[in-house]
Amino acid sequence: MTLLLDDRRLAMLEQFGIRLPADARAAEPEAAPSPMETVQAGARVEPIAAQAPGIELAPRASGIELMEWDELGDAVASCRACKLCATRRNTVFGVGDLQADWLVVGEAPGENEDLQGEPFVGQAGKLLDNMLKALGLSRHEKVYIANVLKCRPPGNRNPEPEEVSQCEPFLRRQVQLLQPKIIVAMGRFAVQSLLGTTEAIGKLRGQRHTYAGVPVIVTYHPAYLLRSLPDKAKAWADLCLAREIANTQG
Ligand code: URA
Repeated sequence: MTLLLDDRRLAMLEQFGIRLPADARAAEPEAAPSPMETVQAGARVEPIAAQAPGIELAPRASGIELMEWDELGDAVASCRACKLCATRRNTVFGVGDLQADWLVVGEAPGENEDLQGEPFVGQAGKLLDNMLKALGLSRHEKVYIANVLKCRPPGNRNPEPEEVSQCEPFLRRQVQLLQPKIIVAMGRFAVQSLLGTTEAIGKLRGQRHTYAGVPVIVTYHPAYLLRSLPDKAKAWADLCLAREIANTQG
């Protein structure tokens, strides 16, 4: 038994490309206060235009819940419902297999993603790709990757509650269209947006949650894992649990 676990961990470490020294531990990600702590999925917010003087905003597209992929992509690309539209270079809709069994949900585009219009293309993305590879998956096959926010918050600051609320219907529709077997929520913003809870990731992981009828597994964000060697092993356990659940879905 011990041998099996060791083998599994070794394979995981190799696939994840771990090189960091053990003292490179980061602070617990859930320790920091979050601007999303008051947001619940689908919460109503004040009209956002009043909060963004000098930026020309427009109401979000209507009928998102009925849109097909192309129309949804166009609605995101032309969205001016929050102030992030003023600073983005590209919207980042999502990438992957439209018949995916797995949906991975991250937080928001960073600088590289904003430039390329694709989620998780920086260092955190490389780690995510390695994690998927360790499961025999890839971002183009059986997996779809999306973020809570489709536009980059300037300077990679945390998403603001109204930005999350404005963007949430897009992710909800992506889930409805995909009907994945499993959703992996990576990091506290994905968790808060999908599950409507501010509970720490450490408390939520290891259990099956549900979003729109789809099983959800909670794990750490790859950007955090880049700085936290011990939690990579936990993330691997989370992905194994996700695989177990996915395999039981019809
Ligand atoms: N972090 C995220 O959460 N999403 C990305 O697309 C890139 C980095």
